[in-house]
Amino acid sequence: MTTEAALAAIRSLLGPRGVVEDARDQAPYLEEPRKLFPGRAALVTRPADRDQLAGVLRLCHAARLPVIPLGGRTGLVGGTTSQEGPPPVLISLERLNRILALDAKAMTMTVQAGCILENIHRAAEAEGLLFPINLGARGSCMIGGNISTNAGGIQVLRYGNTRDLVLGLEVVLPDGEIWDGLRALRKDNTGYDMKQLFIGAEGTLGVVTAAVLRLFPRPEEVQTAFLALPDAAAAIGLYALAQRLSGGTLSAFELIQRFGVEISCRFGGGVDPLSAPAPWYVLLEMSGAADGSLRATLEALLEAAMEQGLVLDGTIAESSAQAASLWHLREALVDSQQFEGASIKHDIAVPISLVPDFLVQAGAAALAVIPTARL
Ligand SMILES: Cc1cc2nc3c(=O)[nH]c(=O)nc-3n(C[C@H](O)[C@H](O)[C@H](O)COP(=O)(O)OP(=O)(O)OC[C@H]3O[C@@H](n4cnc5c(N)ncnc54)[C@H](O)[C@@H]3O)c2cc1C
Repeated sequence: MTTEAALAAIRSLLGPRGVVEDARDQAPYLEEPRKLFPGRAALVTRPADRDQLAGVLRLCHAARLPVIPLGGRTGLVGGTTSQEGPPPVLISLERLNRILALDAKAMTMTVQAGCILENIHRAAEAEGLLFPINLGARGSCMIGGNISTNAGGIQVLRYGNTRDLVLGLEVVLPDGEIWDGLRALRKDNTGYDMKQLFIGAEGTLGVVTAAVLRLFPRPEEVQTAFLALPDAAAAIGLYALAQRLSGGTLSAFELIQRFGVEISCRFGGGVDPLSAPAPWYVLLEMSGAADGSLRATLEALLEAAMEQGLVLDGTIAESSAQAASLWHLREALVDSQQFEGASIKHDIAVPISLVPDFLVQAGAAALAVIPTARL
């Protein structure tokens, strides 16, 4: 099949609502948040359902046309754009945006891949439940994108990555065949766990069209603190202490450098709540039952941490608005970076106890290559 024949067949399969032809309307589909990797497209498509999407893939496969699935296009590494080879057919999941089922007793939710993460949060909250993947892009990223990047987010310590939170998946394979693994079983010990291949695969093995997600009881109370630290090594001591004293209620622990707080305040509307600057900070959150013990546990942790010299200063949010303001410091950091010039994004995992050493060694290695870099 020729490219022209395949594109014509896709147009007729999807109808006018299913393709974006106007150059101005296409522009957002060819961009990514950092504006570093401009995209191109042979055609921008918006299938209405799984079967239309399968039809698009079948035709692209027959014509050997490259395809890129698009979620909310909030990924920071150019995964939705391509600069080389034949222009791809872009497949936006935006119309597959329905929550298909929510089983509050079994604590599962079945969703189409184009559901915006924040809408999933809201649906879970309405039932007193929690879907714990949470990140700054929650208002635009889609669950299919979260699954395909195996997103971590700010509660990964307690609940794990997306990989740990998906019970079942439905995927359209590159030739248009449908792989149906949309199961909601808590215990599934049958053979290979095929869905795990597609999680974190960035669309290279197929297009995720639906998923069954694990939900959790929604914590009744959340306590948030922003703490100043003398150095990164103190964060490791603080983390161990927090795990020991918090009785499993530690739900977030974000280590932030002074430079990050500065750009978040300068460009992102963040407000530094502490009177004196410190080299490092930890944004810490505990969540659990509303039995009054959480605040006392957090205060005891801070007292012990200050006695041990792990924490220099800190503040505990007195209201949900204050907690949101502390979180804003962290979340605005991502977008604020672009105003400071070019930045190199990375998502590096090292064993917790090696983080301080890693920072020293990686910093020295980066400065050896780019002596003017700010770390
Ligand atoms: C302010 C901000 C904060 C962020 N914070 C975090 C964070 O804390 N943790 C984190 O992990 N990431 C974070 N990110 C990065 C990004 O939001 C996540 O990677 C998110 O999971 C991407 O979802 P998306 O729908 O935008 O995917 P997209 O950017 O649209 O796509 C990402 C990749 O997945 C593929 N893909 C998308 N949908 C599908 C599908 N249905 N089937 C198959 N492949 C698909 C795409 O082709 C692409 O390769 C942040 C981004 C921003 C802008």
